[in-house]
Amino acid sequence: MLIAEKILEKDFQGKTTKEAYLNCCKWLSTNVIAVNNSKHITYRTEKVETDDWSRIVRLTLYVTADEEEICERNCNICKEVTGSFFMTQNKYMCEVCKVPPYRKRLKDKLHLIKEGLKGKML
Ligand SMILES: [Zn+2]
Repeated sequence: MLIAEKILEKDFQGKTTKEAYLNCCKWLSTNVIAVNNSKHITYRTEKVETDDWSRIVRLTLYVTADEEEICERNCNICKEVTGSFFMTQNKYMCEVCKVPPYRKRLKDKLHLIKEGLKGKML
């Protein structure tokens, strides 16, 4: 599971949506893909409704991190605490950190979004 935070929003113009989108791709290719090959970066492109002749595509960039890794590091603390009390037991005691229920809620939400996309995109 990836965690993302918005870092940049940028609008691209064109006479058609396609032209605006291609301008966006050009910028992405030069400023993101060529620089770090999209490492830790996720992006979203969307059409923006306009009243005049121009068409706008909005690009949003996010920095992303793998939550699994962070969670493991966090819950190593839960494990160590347990270890000092129950020498033989090697299980996670996450009652204090409360990470598992929080993760479950996130995963449930992602699952619902995925289900909603079935038949439309997936
Ligand atoms: Zn924990």
